[in-house]
Amino acid sequence: MFESVDIDKVSPMMQHYLQTKREYKDCILFYRLGDFYELFFDDAQVASKELELTLTGKACGLEERAPMCGIPFHAVDSYLTKLVSRGFKVAICEQTEDPKLAKGIVKRDVTRIVTPGTNLNMQSLEETKNNYIMSIIYTPDNIGISVADLTTGDYYLTEVENLRAAVDEIGKYSPSEIICNEAFNFSGIDIDELRNRLQIFINPLDSRYFDEDSCKKLLMKHFKVSSLIGLGIEDFPNGVVAAGALLQYLTDMQKSDISIITHIYPYLTSKFMLLDSSTRRNLELVETMRDKQKRGTLLWVLDKTKTAMGARMLRSFIEQPLIDKDEILLRQGAVDALVKNVITREEIREYLNPVYDLERLMSKIIFKTANPRDLLAFRNSIKMIPAIITALTDVKDNEALNKLFSELDPLTDIYELIDQAIVEEPPLTIRESGIIKEGFDKDIDHFREAGTNGKGWLAKLEDEEKENTGIKSLKIKYSNVFGYSFEVTNSFKDKVPDYFIRKQTLANAERYTTPKLKELEDTILNAQDKLNNLEYEMFCKIRDSIALEINRIQSTAKAIALLDVYASLAYVAEKNHYVKPVINDKGVINIKNGRHPVVEKMLDSADMFISNDTYLDNKKHCISIITGPNMAGKSTYMRQTALIVLMAQIGCFIPAEKADICVVDRIFTRVGASDDLGSGQSTFMVEMNEVANILRNATPNSLLILDEIGRGTSTYDGLAIAWAVTEHISNRKILGAKTLFATHYHELTELEGKMDNVNNYCIAVKENGDNIVFLRKIVKGGADKSYGIQVAKLAGVPDMVIDRAKEIVAELTDNDITEKVQAIARDSKGDKKVKVQHYDDVDIDQMSLFDTVTDEDVLKRLQEIDITTLTPMDALNTLYKLQSDL
Ligand code: ADP
Repeated sequence: MFESVDIDKVSPMMQHYLQTKREYKDCILFYRLGDFYELFFDDAQVASKELELTLTGKACGLEERAPMCGIPFHAVDSYLTKLVSRGFKVAICEQTEDPKLAKGIVKRDVTRIVTPGTNLNMQSLEETKNNYIMSIIYTPDNIGISVADLTTGDYYLTEVENLRAAVDEIGKYSPSEIICNEAFNFSGIDIDELRNRLQIFINPLDSRYFDEDSCKKLLMKHFKVSSLIGLGIEDFPNGVVAAGALLQYLTDMQKSDISIITHIYPYLTSKFMLLDSSTRRNLELVETMRDKQKRGTLLWVLDKTKTAMGARMLRSFIEQPLIDKDEILLRQGAVDALVKNVITREEIREYLNPVYDLERLMSKIIFKTANPRDLLAFRNSIKMIPAIITALTDVKDNEALNKLFSELDPLTDIYELIDQAIVEEPPLTIRESGIIKEGFDKDIDHFREAGTNGKGWLAKLEDEEKENTGIKSLKIKYSNVFGYSFEVTNSFKDKVPDYFIRKQTLANAERYTTPKLKELEDTILNAQDKLNNLEYEMFCKIRDSIALEINRIQSTAKAIALLDVYASLAYVAEKNHYVKPVINDKGVINIKNGRHPVVEKMLDSADMFISNDTYLDNKKHCISIITGPNMAGKSTYMRQTALIVLMAQIGCFIPAEKADICVVDRIFTRVGASDDLGSGQSTFMVEMNEVANILRNATPNSLLILDEIGRGTSTYDGLAIAWAVTEHISNRKILGAKTLFATHYHELTELEGKMDNVNNYCIAVKENGDNIVFLRKIVKGGADKSYGIQVAKLAGVPDMVIDRAKEIVAELTDNDITEKVQAIARDSKGDKKVKVQHYDDVDIDQMSLFDTVTDEDVLKRLQEIDITTLTPMDALNTLYKLQSDL
């Protein structure tokens, strides 16, 4: 709509609006007019709907009024965040000169553009999670990736081999925005999935952003170096392009230098444990699968950090476990020292309590949005550093803590500056006076005094004029519009002397000025104006001088975050009775009485959790086949093993009696595919994709968790696939990776004798007449029964069905299922002949859609059932449905 407007016909202000809008076509333009941001034309229509604002119109020289809606400037952040979170890009056009001083129309310019990854409104961001923006450059050689967070200054770069690895990086950082080259868009990646399922704003950029030379130059200029070698990033040519494009984009959005970024960290993905996105989801590391909550995740158990910075760092530790043994031992040592020195640890945690988010406060300082109260929060936080440093001296003999100790800067100079300059209860906005403490600056004191004395002078004048005029109720009043005046109530009107000049009429009083009052007013108001300006300038000066110390502050903030993480891990270790695992190079995972860190916390009391041992190596104990009835605890056991290994590689203590754990390069999980149904692929296809990924990418040093492979197809196909997969993994010449494999195919237990590195385990249950009791203990050997009917009974399936199911089980044998079912069907319905057919993809749910059912229908449905794919539970449900439809 705005594009069709004839620019020559509209008012000068609207002309400027349209010119600006044409430059920022892809943005919603917030155009500052006085106390409002106004939106016009298409933008007004969109925003009025999205933000539930009233749509009005503005006469602008055209025949019809321009659609318009407005947002009060003080409430802009919340509206802005709403639009941005819904995928809009917003450009903010500010008044860039004082309207009072402007000649003609006030100068305005776009001062920043806001997108999900460049939103600096801290209130709308999760405190304990970074707000990452990622840049991806797809090339035929490899993929360059760079990630940054404008609210903390974190900035990383890497390169990965293929799309799958790029998706793993996306899963690791879960950015709110991705910028990419066009090639990435056409690389075969599922952009819609990233957009819709992961809620990522994706923004393919113009090729000029990805020019190698400009990217290099920009990075060198930003970091003030003459070559990339100094930054350690010269070996990542595509990573450099991704990082350069990202920095350029951030600069374009902020319209300023990105001085919050002071370092760039290159990394190799192979330096961390590789976790694909389905494994991250399955293991519920930082959010639950079902409702994406923190409660019920590993992060939830481990996060007892005191600061937002610590919480964010702990999350990143969990997202990227280490694989370097020395680094693991370094962290482990720090945690150990803080487990042993309880008093020091608790003292440190106490000192960390009042520490605010120094990283994000710093971002506000750098982007000049910090107000006086933010500076006080900053002061109160850094006030704790000397105490923390003193406390740390007790544990300085630990290498990691000693390193931290040396990185902590007490920042005393900054503390003193804020403490001496800013009053204890400053106003909220920086345009009001009363920010700077008395005694800090001579000029400010001088004008403040004029203000204070002015009040005395006014009182004196008021007394004098009361005396002169005899008006007892005479008062000096102040109004924003009229300034100072004498107020005379109507009953004293007669006594008003000639030299009183009328200024304003009120309902029951008149207001006057006098030459003397006017003179005083000028002195006082000028003093106030001057004072406001001086205080504002001084505040900005203080803020800018803190901004200059960014390097010291950022490294101290990181050291505090790390200390917080160590202290949290130590606290959790003690409270949850974790132990320090031994890290070995022998390829052995030996866990004695391990527990599931999350499940044990979800139970009413921790001792209700039954602990279990795990032993895996690359020799005789490579694959454990785990059988046992549904609900016995197979998945819990397997996940517990994966989580314990992962925790060990984070450097934390683990829930077990003792453990000796080797470093694994990857953990793969293949667990129920129901979560992927939204992706449009069949469950079986998703399952096989994941199996293919595992078999192609696993190494002998990987840990594989396979839950019920082959379930999505017919019994024989499924069994055959599961069998072949097991053979493949167990073959040392091909793979030989440590694997826990839970299966309902009891036939797989046959493999134990056939391959020397496959062992059978089952989760014990106790039979008690008709009932079973889950013992949750893993024991050697395969389960001989599946106890499906008993589990169905526990689940509350009606007795009638249970009894009938028992009869059927008694009749069925594995050898001749088809005949037996025919017989059962015949018995149920006289002697009608029933032909049972095999269909590989019978959809049982579809069948239950019939609502008027004849016996023929039931027979037909029975015919169509593929018994070979039915689980015992499904069989029962199907029988129940069939019977109740007769
Ligand atoms: P399966 O995979 O064999 O069907 P799950 O691992 O899902 O069984 O376990 C079912 C439930 O049993 C879990 O939700 C958990 O509450 C409980 N459970 C599993 N293992 C244990 C254990 N070792 N101690 C106590 N409760 C357990």
